Amino acid sequence: MRHGRSADWDRHSRPLWAETAREPPPDCPPLAGAARADVAVIGAGYAGLGTAIHLADRGASVTVLEAEQPGSGASGRNGGQVIPGLRHFRRDLDAVYGAARGERLYAFGAGTADAVWRLVDRFAIACDPIRTGWIQAAHGGASLAESERRVAAWRRFGAPVEMLDRDAMRRLTGAAGYVGGWIDRRGGSVQPLAYARGLARGALGLGVRIHCGSRVTALERGAAGWTCRTAQGAVTAERVVVATTAYSDGLVPGLAASFVAVQSFQIATAPLSGEQRRRILPQGQCVSDMRNLLRYFRVDRDHRLVVGGRGTQTPARGPGSFGHQRLMLDKLYPELRGTALPHAWGGFVAVTPGRWPRLHEPAPGLIIPMGCNGKGVAWASAFGRVLADLALGGAERDMPLPIEPIARIPFPGLRRFYSAAATAYYRFQDARG
Ligand SMILES: Cc1cc2nc3c(=O)[nH]c(=O)nc-3n(C[C@H](O)[C@H](O)[C@H](O)COP(=O)(O)OP(=O)(O)OC[C@H]3O[C@@H](n4cnc5c(N)ncnc54)[C@H](O)[C@@H]3O)c2cc1C
Repeated sequence: MRHGRSADWDRHSRPLWAETAREPPPDCPPLAGAARADVAVIGAGYAGLGTAIHLADRGASVTVLEAEQPGSGASGRNGGQVIPGLRHFRRDLDAVYGAARGERLYAFGAGTADAVWRLVDRFAIACDPIRTGWIQAAHGGASLAESERRVAAWRRFGAPVEMLDRDAMRRLTGAAGYVGGWIDRRGGSVQPLAYARGLARGALGLGVRIHCGSRVTALERGAAGWTCRTAQGAVTAERVVVATTAYSDGLVPGLAASFVAVQSFQIATAPLSGEQRRRILPQGQCVSDMRNLLRYFRVDRDHRLVVGGRGTQTPARGPGSFGHQRLMLDKLYPELRGTALPHAWGGFVAVTPGRWPRLHEPAPGLIIPMGCNGKGVAWASAFGRVLADLALGGAERDMPLPIEPIARIPFPGLRRFYSAAATAYYRFQDARG
């Protein structure tokens, strides 16, 4: 149960994005009294807001209920890297879902970054978009070979991707420790909180009602549809989309036990000098590497270097909790060793078994997406269209994902242990390149 977790867990955080977001928090008062909508959406992250926008476009009345503020969950805390596609190859998708759905899912993944750029342009979101591409860096021979496979696969699909050799990688990133990698020109980065707030502003402009400070504490099915109850009100709707992802609490039985909530931490430097920027990410691409315990980094609008990676499983207890991220920074950019780190913060990523995205409908009209496993900026934004289709009666067979039962990870009490064991195993694998 993650009730109210963010306030407690954030006590020692100094998040960057809240300070630099150009989009102000939207005006969305708490729910008061009883209301009706065609569709209720729970959670105002990218998935919930994207769903609301697509529903409103199709003429549905929509109410979004958010426990805190738009972007309070992962959508306002992430690295802002806009990454198209899934981590799985087409053959993996075909093996799991069959060739027809595999093809649809692959094509859907191919378009997820474009979906972000369309939303940014449509609502003129002031989220400092940088569209110079996303780089996946290889740290050894095995990951370089995987880069080649990925480039070959996307090339067959006609995507604008290229291999980068060691020199090109060094030129584009200035980072130490990479033997090469590849660049995907569809990707880029956004200021994540500003993007979430801009989506909320766009949704409000389409007539969507958004209520902040309105945690849904009960979901009941009755003759009039589903009723979502908050402390001060209730919304009844024919269909409900539960877009709470890694921040899911006990609202839907079994949901919070169907994934491991892994913390990812980020740190940010003070603005780099012009001289440093000429070496460090001079063209503004964002980078994730191919380690299982991945490192990701980028620069923001004001030339701060933002570095992220696997966090602790406990709340940050102060600057010492971010020691691993400082170590990553030192390895990537030894010339920045000892630099001040004015910002450090974290958030939860929902890691599903096999890192597959999921779609659930545990009862008629109760629709739940789950797990984008670190690619959710683009995925969750784009998946709103699918969720809207389903909520308006679209057929499962036309969706890129099948509807699956919610499957609890066995022995949920041991999830922290699984997470620690997986960390140790992945560290060993990553050391082999
Ligand atoms: C530190 C970090 C770095 C990341 N970096 C990247 C990256 O660079 N690129 C990338 O693609 N992905 C990244 N991700 C993943 C990405 O942020 C997520 O996949 C994406 O934001 C998920 O969006 P969402 O709308 O599904 O969930 P969220 O944004 O988490 O939204 C869920 C919302 O539900 C609300 N909620 C929960 N329970 C209730 C309730 N009972 N009633 C009402 N509201 C409720 C929460 O308050 C929250 O606002 C990162 C994640 C983290 C944490």
